[in-house]
Amino acid sequence: MSSKKKTILKVIILGDSGVGKTSLMHRYVNDKYSQQYKATIGADFLTKEINVDGDRTATMQVWDTAGQERFQSLGVAFYRGADCCVLVYDVTNTKSFENIKSWRDEFLVHANVSSPESFPFVILGNKIDIEETKKVISVKSAQDLAKSLGNIPLFLTSAKSSINVDPAFEEIARSALQQN
Ligand code: GDP
Ligand code: MG
Repeated sequence: MSSKKKTILKVIILGDSGVGKTSLMHRYVNDKYSQQYKATIGADFLTKEINVDGDRTATMQVWDTAGQERFQSLGVAFYRGADCCVLVYDVTNTKSFENIKSWRDEFLVHANVSSPESFPFVILGNKIDIEETKKVISVKSAQDLAKSLGNIPLFLTSAKSSINVDPAFEEIARSALQQN
């Protein structure tokens, strides 16, 4: 008889308002996309069961902000016990890219993780479905930033067109599992 071990992985998504955090979460968890999400959602997080290997399943809790990111005033419960922190920017928005490092620092200040040097982050450059001429962040500069922050895995995604969302969350799950 195999004894199934239950693991809960807490993943939090940070980034400027409007980069597509809520859309990415819905795309991953429900495989849905809607142009308009309310700024506030009912639940603190959405969950998805994932298969880790034959003997192990895990529940991923994806925590989204309800618009408070505009004021950088997320409660301590939001950060507590996170196993992976996803940092999102919008490839058509320079400011959101420049703020990636601040969001990472913000996380480290509040989350109180035991070893900040090895804590897993994943960076998502979202909205790559948008036409080339509107993209302002090159792949190279994103790679350079990811490298400079400690070789953080980087994925270019589209919640709208469902590009690279599953591979990104597979990496997120993998890195969160290493914390458990
Ligand atoms: P949040 O504030 O970071 O949670 O961002 P939302 O998920 O609410 O998305 C903000 C706006 O960007 C909405 O109008 C979305 O429809 C749009 N959006 C989100 N993801 C994408 C994407 O991958 N491509 C495009 N073109 N628009 C997106
Ligand atoms: Mg949102």
